[in-house]
Amino acid sequence: RDEIGYLWNHFAGMVQNLREKQQELQAVHQQLEIQATTDALTGLYNRRYLYDIFPRLWSESQRQQQRLSVLLIDLDLFKQVNDRHGHQVGDKVLVMLAGVLRDTCRVSDFAFRMGGEEFLVLTKGDVDGAAVLAEKIRATLELCSLVGDGYTLRVTASIGVARAEEGDGANALSQLLARADKALYAAKQSGRNQVLTWP
Ligand code: GH3
Ligand code: MG
Ligand code: MG
Repeated sequence: RDEIGYLWNHFAGMVQNLREKQQELQAVHQQLEIQATTDALTGLYNRRYLYDIFPRLWSESQRQQQRLSVLLIDLDLFKQVNDRHGHQVGDKVLVMLAGVLRDTCRVSDFAFRMGGEEFLVLTKGDVDGAAVLAEKIRATLELCSLVGDGYTLRVTASIGVARAEEGDGANALSQLLARADKALYAAKQSGRNQVLTWP
């Protein structure tokens, strides 16, 4: 009941207040981190996060003398889906593809939405394993259908597969992406709905 007791209680209240504020800040920080690294529509990682984590995965793979491969996935004739069914249905197709990626990838794989209707999977190991995964994704997507009001929609994707080479230096990621892009382009040229591996 004396002055010291009063001050003590006051102080304890302040400490409790600070603790709560700190917890709130932590939660906000976590939320911001999730928003900065993931794609809002699909919940997959975004392009920025790929550039963020690649250097770490690259040096780790070199230390462990392990290959890194990527799958570059692009929906076939997706513009037609938007034109026929509208952008909202198009967005549902993107979410459906994200679901296929989640279901087929292992926990050690990373799946990204690079932007638009282009997705990427980063996987440890050589291109043959990556090509098997790519074929699984392609075949699973082909069997999926989106059922809505008066329509049943099926889509396909073309996939380019490539691996990082030992000699790839500081710009390993851009080289890897360029190779995967070439393979993807070839897959589109050869009639779409297929997996091609660089070179
Ligand atoms: P291709 O088989 O050669 O890839 O043909 P495509 O029609 O898929 O390729 P194109 O690059 O011409 O069209 C991509 C389309 O993707 C254009 C745009 O309408 C659509 N698109 C891009 N981002 C989004 C998005 O966030 N949501 C929706 N619904 N559509 C998108
Ligand atoms: Mg595209
Ligand atoms: Mg496309």
